[in-house]
Amino acid sequence: MPINTTNNMIRTILPLNRKCFALAGLCLFAVFQVLCASAQTNYVLTNAADVLTLTATQARTGVPVTVRGVVTAAESNWVGRFFVQDASGGVFVDNVGQHQPLLGDLVEVTGFTHPGGYAPVITRPHWKKIGTAPMPEAKLVPIEILMSGAEDSQRVAISGIVRTAQVGDNRLGVEVAAGGYRLRAYSPIPTNVDPQTLIGDKVLLKGTLAAAFNAPLRHFITVTLFVPQLSDFIIQQSAPTNPFAAPLTPLNAIAQYRKDMTQGSRVHVKGVVTYQENGVNLFIQGSETNGLQIKSEQWEAVAPGDVVEAVGFSAVDNYLPVLDDAIFRKTDEPRVEPQSKEATASALLLGIHHADLITLRGRLLDRLSRGISQDSDNSAVRTTLVLQASNLLFTAERDTSEPNPMLASIPIGSLVEVSGICLLESGSDGKIKSVRVLLPTSHDVRIIQKPSWLTPEHLLISLAVVFVFLVVAVSWTVMVTQRNAMLKSSVREKIAAQNELQSAHDQLEERVKERTAQLKVEMTARKESELQFRAVLTERTRLAQELHDTLEQTMTGIALQLDLVANLFTRSAENALHHLKLARNLMRQSQLDVRRSVWGLRSRATEQFDLTNALGTTSRQIADGAGINIELETLGETYPLSEIAEENLLRVGQEAITNVVKHSGARVAKIKLEFTPQKVILQISDDGKGFVPQTCVGPKDGHFGLLGMTERAERLGGQISINSAANAGTTICVEIPATPANQQLAATKI
Ligand code: ADP
Ligand code: CA
Repeated sequence: MPINTTNNMIRTILPLNRKCFALAGLCLFAVFQVLCASAQTNYVLTNAADVLTLTATQARTGVPVTVRGVVTAAESNWVGRFFVQDASGGVFVDNVGQHQPLLGDLVEVTGFTHPGGYAPVITRPHWKKIGTAPMPEAKLVPIEILMSGAEDSQRVAISGIVRTAQVGDNRLGVEVAAGGYRLRAYSPIPTNVDPQTLIGDKVLLKGTLAAAFNAPLRHFITVTLFVPQLSDFIIQQSAPTNPFAAPLTPLNAIAQYRKDMTQGSRVHVKGVVTYQENGVNLFIQGSETNGLQIKSEQWEAVAPGDVVEAVGFSAVDNYLPVLDDAIFRKTDEPRVEPQSKEATASALLLGIHHADLITLRGRLLDRLSRGISQDSDNSAVRTTLVLQASNLLFTAERDTSEPNPMLASIPIGSLVEVSGICLLESGSDGKIKSVRVLLPTSHDVRIIQKPSWLTPEHLLISLAVVFVFLVVAVSWTVMVTQRNAMLKSSVREKIAAQNELQSAHDQLEERVKERTAQLKVEMTARKESELQFRAVLTERTRLAQELHDTLEQTMTGIALQLDLVANLFTRSAENALHHLKLARNLMRQSQLDVRRSVWGLRSRATEQFDLTNALGTTSRQIADGAGINIELETLGETYPLSEIAEENLLRVGQEAITNVVKHSGARVAKIKLEFTPQKVILQISDDGKGFVPQTCVGPKDGHFGLLGMTERAERLGGQISINSAANAGTTICVEIPATPANQQLAATKI
C-alpha cells in the first residue's frame, strides 16, 4: 500500500503554522495583510488550470487564487475537502476542517496555491456558494492517459468491465478492467441492484480522478475515480444475470482459443478442490486431473475433495492461465478424492503441470523457516524445502501457525516425495523460471530414503573429531616424551647422586672401619693396660697378703721364740737354745717364703703336699711355745684339691692360728678339715676370750687378717663365717664348693 494513502483519504498537505502568526503580533500581521493585498492586486490566479500549471516551487510561494466552479467531488469522509472544476479544469481545495460544500454547488473559492502531495492545490480557502450548476462534461480520455496521473483532479469518463463490486462505507466500490488496466471507482450505492450482478457488466463511469501518491516523494501511485451521482454510473452492456447458468468450460480450455470468446465475458468451470488459500487462491482439479488456479477474494472455506463451481475472468498471470476475480460455490455432488499426478522434472520444465496436484521426488538440499504475517492479527510460519529433481531445483512450501516440527525433522540430503499444488512461473519466452509446490498438509512430504550417514556435515564432524583426537594424541605424545626426557634426566641425576652417595658411604665405611680398628687397637691396648694394671694390683695385693701371711706370721713366731729365749736365757740355757733353734728355723722358713714370694714361686712345703699335714705342721710351728694345744681332725673322704684351693685354705688356717696365738689367750685350738662330695669345710675354733667382729679393728686400722681370709674364701667361690663372743671363744669356718676349679683337675692358677 502506498504511504500516507488510503482509499478514503488521498490528499495530504503540510499543516500551516498558525501559531507563527499569533506570535508575530498585530503589526506584522497588518504588514502581511498589506503585502498580500498588494500581491492580490498585482497577480491573482483565476482558474483551475492555472493552478495546475504551476511548478511545485511556484505553488509553494502561495500565489493568491480565486476560482469559480462546480463541486465535482466532496466525499463525506474528506473532512471538508472537495474538488472544484471550472471551464478550464478541476482542482483540489484543501478545505480541511471547514464546512464542506455539496456536490453540484457552484462556489467561488479564494485561497493560495500550495504544492500539495502530487498536483498543486488551493490551500487556506474561503468559499461561498453562488448557486448550483450541472456537472461539467466528462472528458473521454484513453485509459493509459488516465492511469498515468496526468488527469488528476479532472472530471473524466471511462468505459470498462466491472471485475469486483463491494458495498462499504455507504458507497459502492468497483474495480473496472479496461485495456489491461484496473481502476477502482467509488459511487453512491445503486438502489434495488445486487452489486454482485454488476460483475461482468460493461459500464461507462463519469467522475473526478484523484491520484493516490507517495507524499514525501511526490510520487504517483495510482488513480481512483469518484463517481458523484448514480446518473454517472451507466451500464452499457449487462452480463448474464446468473453466471453459474452458463455452460461449463473445460479447465484446460481456459487459455485456449475460442472463437466466441468476448472480452470481459466470464468463464464457468467446475472441479474438485485440491487446495485453498482463503481469500487468495483456490485450486481445483477437473477431469483428466487438469488443475486450475482460481483467484478469489471470497472467504468461504471448502475442503479438498469438495466439488465446486466457479465463475471468473480468464486471465494470464505470469504468462500462465488463471481464473481471475472469481466467485465460487460448493455443489451438492459427492466428494471426490483428489488424484495427484506423477510429475517429472522435464514435464515441469515444459510448463505442463501448472496448478496441478502433483507428486514429485527430489533430494532435500536445504530448509528455510521464516515468519510471515497473513494479516495484522495472524502470523504464520512458512517452512520452505529446497529440493532437487535431476536438473530441476524446486521448492515445497507449507504455512503453519506454529513452527512445523515434522518438516523440520527431515534430514537434509533425504530423498523425499512431495505431493502438492504445482505453481510454475514462466518468463516472457515461455521458459519456466521457477517451480513451487504448495503442500496442503505436512504429511504430503514422505521420506523415501534417508541420507547416507556420510553427509558433508557428518564428514566434517568426523574430520573435526579425528583432528581433535590427533591433536590430543600428538600433544599427549609430546607431553609423554617431554616427561620421559625429564624423567630420564632426573633418573640420571639420581643415579649420579646415588653413586656419589655410595662412594661417600663407602668412604665413610672405610673410615669407620679404620676408626673401629683404631678404636679396637686402642681398646685392646687399654684393656691390656687395664689388665696389666689389675694384674699389678692383684700382684700387689697378693704380695701384701703373702708378706703378711708369711713374713708377719713367721716374724710373730720368731718374736715369740725370742721372748721365750730372753726369759729362759738365764734360767735354762738348754730350753733357750731350743727356742733359738726354733726361731732360726722360722727365720729360714721366712727366708724361703720371701724368696718364693720374690720369685713368684708356689708355696709348696714338700713334693707330696698334704693339706692336713701342712695345716698341722705350720700351726704347731706358729703355736709352739704359746702353750696352746693344737687339735687336728679330718672328716670325710678326702680328694685332691687344686693347688690354688690348697694354698688358700692353708693360708686361711695359718692366719686363724696366728690370730689364736696373738689375740685369744686360748688353751686349745681345734682345726677341723671336712670333705663332703659337695664342699670342703675348714673350721678353726678356740676357747679364748673371743671378740665382737662388728666392733673389732679392721683394714682401716692396718689390720688385714680377717679381710684376707674373707677374700681367699670368696676367691675360691666359697664363704666364711666368724662366730665369736666375749669369753666364748672364736670359730672361723670356711666352706668352699667342690667345683672342678677347686679340685686338682683344674688348671693351676692363682
Ligand atoms: P691383727 O691380728 O693384725 O690384729 P686381725 O684382722 O687378724 O688383725 O684381727 C683382728 C682383731 O680380731 C684382732 O686384733 C683381735 O682383737 C681380734 N681377734 C682375732 N682373732 C681372735 C681370736 N682367735 N681371739 C680373740 N680375738 C681375736
Ligand atoms: Ca691376725
